[in-house]
Amino acid sequence: LALADVIVAGDVITMDSARPRAEAFALRGNTILAIGSLDEVVAACPPGTPVDRPAGAVILPGLIDAHCHLQVAGLKLLRRERELSRVLEVDEALAVLDEDPFGEAWPDGELTMDDRVDAIAAAQRLVHALGITGVIDPAASSAEVSAYQEARFRGVLTVRVVAMPYPDLDGGVDGAIATLRAPGIRTGFGDEVLRIGGVKVYFDGLGMAGTALRREPWPETGEYGTQRVSIEAFERLARACAEAGWSLGVHVVGGGGIDAVLEAFEAIAADVSLKELRFTLIHAYLEPSAENMALAAKLGVVLATQPSIQWVNGPGLVQRLGSDAAASNPLRDWLDAGVTVAAGSDAPAFPIDPRLGFVQATTRAVRDGDAPLGPEQAVTPQEALAMYTTGASWASGAMAYANRGALAVGMGADWTACSVDPLTATPEALRAATFSRTVVGGGTVHASDGGPPPYGAFAARAAAGLDPAEQAVAELATDVTTTVTDQTDSTEVIA
Ligand SMILES: [Zn+2]
Repeated sequence: LALADVIVAGDVITMDSARPRAEAFALRGNTILAIGSLDEVVAACPPGTPVDRPAGAVILPGLIDAHCHLQVAGLKLLRRERELSRVLEVDEALAVLDEDPFGEAWPDGELTMDDRVDAIAAAQRLVHALGITGVIDPAASSAEVSAYQEARFRGVLTVRVVAMPYPDLDGGVDGAIATLRAPGIRTGFGDEVLRIGGVKVYFDGLGMAGTALRREPWPETGEYGTQRVSIEAFERLARACAEAGWSLGVHVVGGGGIDAVLEAFEAIAADVSLKELRFTLIHAYLEPSAENMALAAKLGVVLATQPSIQWVNGPGLVQRLGSDAAASNPLRDWLDAGVTVAAGSDAPAFPIDPRLGFVQATTRAVRDGDAPLGPEQAVTPQEALAMYTTGASWASGAMAYANRGALAVGMGADWTACSVDPLTATPEALRAATFSRTVVGGGTVHASDGGPPPYGAFAARAAAGLDPAEQAVAELATDVTTTVTDQTDSTEVIA
């Protein structure tokens, strides 16, 4: 029998194609030991194993935001929380982030490490309340990486973070390559909670600034856009990354930029496979071609998309590009071409709320728009959920969270309980959905339903007077080494 801490029971969407729905799963520590019907799971566990029935319509794998500037968002929240001397409610926090999306995060003078750690805590409180258990920080400065590490050491960090360093290319690409190689690490370095992700490079500009690199000139300016690194330097850096086992995420928005980046990737892929490294196009929403998509699929290049950008920028793109704007962020075409798509927010510049991103991707609704923009590019709810779970997990890196994004035996116990079924709910219901519970590595990091019954290691801590959040922190601090060998016997039980 599987010695489980707890059986979690409910209507479970697993995102595991072998068993899309389940009634229960059993977990110990970080890991799922058994999943199936309630009867099967109960039979697989010793008599008396506690059963936890979280409030909510369905249980989902924890959502992963594949593009979240978590600390920048956190600083904005922290400023307001310090002004008010209290923690923000979810709707208040979302409103704070919406107030001035491109405003300076911290105009209040120098940041201390305590400020940064507090900002991480503020941001993760919000994302956990939105069902998120992991993020990719797509451009973590040295100071931000240090703060993540400090938060991890202090036991504060409960959201799984994949932090992407971005080298300074102004001093030349060789200096950047030397800097990356110096510590002798590569993508995947870290632990279950905090890892170093791929290298981040900015190739072109922005869609709404008219600086994304297009194939045709921008109608207003007659310019093609901005290229921020020469193709020669870019290819050298990308090749150095591939050869050293670094993943690479490239900020590239316009079709001309996407052409150039993929051409460089194709040249490198002749020598080094990029698929396992999860080389990624970040944004790539403006006029990607069918050839781009086919090539990305062939090379195993991931698309990191942000439906939130389309939500905000859609009307502005119509003004600039007319009817061509309807084809922007063509998620339907990317999926049909066979590309793995990871969804994220690009918060705090764009809305952090995954409910909004999910609805945008499935309806093509845009802010202030009377009608959907390019409705033929909508994806199904199942596909949208995959972008926020399995797709984002894949993009997180081969070494990082390969065991996240789905609920199955041997996978990590990261889950959330949602008040609606996202596969069947109306967009309106989904926008109003709440998450009663969010669990990372078996530890509750958000509970609006009174929290879990005490079980396993938690019971002892509850007896010691720790609250659920503190328990989760303690669990994450100590239980980061659960190995897959723990599940061998339970696999057999259920099989
Ligand atoms: Zn970004």
